[in-house]
Amino acid sequence: MSNRAWVTLATNDSYGLGALVLAHSLRRANSSYQAVVLITPSVTDAMRERLRAVFADVVTVDVLDSRDAAHLALLQRPELGITFTKIHCWSLTQYEKCVFLDADTLVIQNCDELFEREELSAAPDVGWPDCFNSGVFVFKPSNETFDKLIKFAQERGSFDGGDQGLLNSFFSDWAHGDINKHLPFLYNVTSAAFYSYLPALKHYGQDLKIIHFIGIAKPWLQQFNWESRTVDAPDHIKGLLQLWWDLFVGQVHPQLD
Ligand code: UDP
Ligand code: MN
Repeated sequence: MSNRAWVTLATNDSYGLGALVLAHSLRRANSSYQAVVLITPSVTDAMRERLRAVFADVVTVDVLDSRDAAHLALLQRPELGITFTKIHCWSLTQYEKCVFLDADTLVIQNCDELFEREELSAAPDVGWPDCFNSGVFVFKPSNETFDKLIKFAQERGSFDGGDQGLLNSFFSDWAHGDINKHLPFLYNVTSAAFYSYLPALKHYGQDLKIIHFIGIAKPWLQQFNWESRTVDAPDHIKGLLQLWWDLFVGQVHPQLD
């Protein structure tokens, strides 16, 4: 059991808040596996301490940045070059099998079965379903893969400037290869689904496993009413954002000072 781990990443304190809520969601879902967070030197000591309280391991890594302003501008997310730092997850060779989860994900139901999948398993991206979304993926730590990824990043860069473009080019057989490496969308339900296909969300919503708050409107940046303890958001997304905030208010906020 101990050779498997959930892995996330926080390069600053605000994504650190996401990581804390994520760790509590894994606990609430009764996962048998430990969680590890990769951080960079810019995370404050106070946040490190909080992370240490809920993660089995807090691993400091160097910042890797694509510095690819042109492609990131196309994506309208200038800040995402730093997501190259995610590649460090392959260097966690003390583990045999891992599942990476973005810090803006929330585990709704136990998903320990993901560890039975092989590298690289991931769910389709709603923007371009022949690409996988890199917010949730099953991988096998390996120094060899890590070195190859670094070399690939240096030589070829990323078509979107972030980790998702890089990983999709590197694991390019995903779209047409083994269908078992296609995770059901329920394991990475991106918030775009809330407005693009609402009937499907209503129909399949009770089976939802992992929710992923993609885009600039992160849960921790939403307006929250501390009196009524409700998040101020449009109806279709309110329920899921409220789940994030309930965990934040109940488990994370009391530890903040
Ligand atoms: N991330 C981070 N610091 C940043 C930006 C991103 O630590 O400044 C990490 C964090 O784990 C985040 C992931 O990289 O969840 C991917 O970025 P994000 O979730 O913002 O991208 P999106 O899912 O919106 O495309
Ligand atoms: Mn994300």
